[in-house]
Amino acid sequence: MTESVDVGKFKITWLLDGTYPCTPDFIPGARSEEGRHLYQKAGLPPEGPSIEPFHAFAIEWQDHLWLIDTGCGQEAGPERGKVPEQLRSIGYAPEDVEGIIITHLHKDHTGGLLTPEGRARYRNAQLYVGESEMAFWTGSHVPEGNMGDHKVTKAVLEQYEGRIKVVPDNAVIVSGLKFVPLYGHSPGHTGVMIEDRGQQMLMWADLMHSSVLQFHYPHWSVVPDMDPERAVATRLQLLEQLVEEDTMVAGSHTYGTGRVRRGEIAYELVPMDADDRH
Ligand SMILES: [Zn+2]
Repeated sequence: MTESVDVGKFKITWLLDGTYPCTPDFIPGARSEEGRHLYQKAGLPPEGPSIEPFHAFAIEWQDHLWLIDTGCGQEAGPERGKVPEQLRSIGYAPEDVEGIIITHLHKDHTGGLLTPEGRARYRNAQLYVGESEMAFWTGSHVPEGNMGDHKVTKAVLEQYEGRIKVVPDNAVIVSGLKFVPLYGHSPGHTGVMIEDRGQQMLMWADLMHSSVLQFHYPHWSVVPDMDPERAVATRLQLLEQLVEEDTMVAGSHTYGTGRVRRGEIAYELVPMDADDRH
């Protein structure tokens, strides 16, 4: 079963690639009284884990089919890499995908671009990547800890040669789909604003990795945040802005959709009315 929502003419479907156990090893701030409290409040053991998703998204409108990100592919074991199956369950084959928006070049978002043989899975798709992100991963300063991401990026550049469009970090990719720079998790990390007929939803990609913890303590970073200080600043600034603007949100590693509100501790996500979904 997939979940989807309409934003104007766009139909957005969550493609669940797999899940991961989120513990204080991943969010060190949660190794604390506050962390234990939040896990327990969610009905979990005091050190977790909370089971968090890897999502890609399908966007359908008129006769177009696009994706945002593609999941882990072969990069994270047989329990993940389910995006092609999810796509099939809504009636599509990889060949039907016309455009793929890449929020950042971490392998849980790009691994799915490749088949088990390392070839391009989406043979007819054009990829869209922000220029800062592309500049970083094709530059000479890739950290030791990100060699896996780098390896996938190199394979993707090779396999999709001539079909990768590098665009400004805040580019309108196609009318109604726009990159929103959210730097910190990776140097050129971007979200995607989906907007039509006065409706909008921000897919904030990896702004947040645990609904259980990070709405309440947004200054807690995840180990893979490449610039944790910047990731925290971006998160705090965006959450505040989303409260003001009352924008619907979705994320790569959070479930469902809703609106951000001020909460008891910091923020919380108020799920969208059940009647708005289908
Ligand atoms: Zn991710």
